[in-house]
Amino acid sequence: MLLKYEREQIVEYGKKLIDTNLTRGTGGNLSVYDDKSGLMAITPSGMDYYELKAEDILVMDLEGKVVEGTKVPSTEYEMHRIFYVRRDDIKAIIHTHPVYTTTLACLNWDLPPIHYLIALAGPDVKCAKYATFGTKELAENAFEAMKGRKAVLLANHGLLVGAEDLPNAFNISIQIEYVAELYYRAKSIGEPVLLSSEEMELMMEKFKTYGQVRK
Ligand SMILES: [Zn+2]
Repeated sequence: MLLKYEREQIVEYGKKLIDTNLTRGTGGNLSVYDDKSGLMAITPSGMDYYELKAEDILVMDLEGKVVEGTKVPSTEYEMHRIFYVRRDDIKAIIHTHPVYTTTLACLNWDLPPIHYLIALAGPDVKCAKYATFGTKELAENAFEAMKGRKAVLLANHGLLVGAEDLPNAFNISIQIEYVAELYYRAKSIGEPVLLSSEEMELMMEKFKTYGQVRK
């Protein structure tokens, strides 16, 4: 079986997405890229995360061709592929529909730096221009708005996070949803105070050595 370790990791983290309320039902998708073989492992379309087995995970090349697997790949595979083709700092992607992040995405708002944890993803998190799910246009819009960052809000849709591995992509997803919840709560009783761009630069420097999930 190709990319056995990556497939098993995807199965494990798929369950975590449900357990931590990052997504519901069959929503969302995950992938891991192996730069040695140039192949990515990605979840199939519309399968229950608790039913998912390693053999259900598809292996695709970066042209979008299925190399191994019998299921239909996630409809959002373009949104995974584009980052593996164009960015060498991203080797794992998690796309989810978490409540607070998606609430902001439905307002087409960016997530501003109200808490230092946002530095795990960048100086802020932008909201990408709307496009229909599963399209190349959505992949392009997400790529554009995620430049210099590891997370992006998808307008009227959800969250996309890319990192060096799946544990870090998962951690960033959790923390961005947490900051989005803080922003929502702070906004409902007042006007949140933003951290300065100098402070965010310092935080991003610190996060190069601090706050990463290690294997
Ligand atoms: Zn989605």
